[in-house]
Amino acid sequence: MSIIHFEIVTPEKTVLKEEVLQLTVPTKMGEITVLPNHIPLVAGLMPGVIEIKTSDNKIETMAVSGGFIEVLPDKVVILADTAERAADIDEARAKEARKRAETLMAEKREDVDFSAVQAKIAKELARVKAVRRHRNRNIIKTD
Ligand code: ATP
Repeated sequence: MSIIHFEIVTPEKTVLKEEVLQLTVPTKMGEITVLPNHIPLVAGLMPGVIEIKTSDNKIETMAVSGGFIEVLPDKVVILADTAERAADIDEARAKEARKRAETLMAEKREDVDFSAVQAKIAKELARVKAVRRHRNRNIIKTD
């Protein structure tokens, strides 16, 4: 069985290091699914959800805010600005942070960096989306 040595790291820590069967990632060129023996590539990441099928056929859902993915024949490395496993995300914190950013955006102050606030909103949306997807999958599984 072909596998991918996968690693996702942030400036703070290694968030996940595991052997996986495939992963789906939001890149600036669109969502890509990487299988073993994928052609080598480097791409920038968008804020969004990463889905990983682990070698025991489980799906691991993660949120990512941006960064880079490097695909090598048997290895994939993601260098992320921030990344969290869905199970570790504090949903209330993400919602609060999004609300704060949206309020700031609505104020239209000249001293506020519009694109930074927009990026913050996208990052928090990705966290909420990852939590929801993770939760829905688990509900379906136990039905
Ligand atoms: P907040 O606006 O909620 O205070 P922040 O701006 O400090 O968040 P980031 O800079 O995005 O957050 O991330 C800082 C660290 O906190 C990172 O390690 C990130 O993974 C973690 N983190 C941020 N938000 C959450 C969350 N909702 N759940 C779990 N971890 C989080």
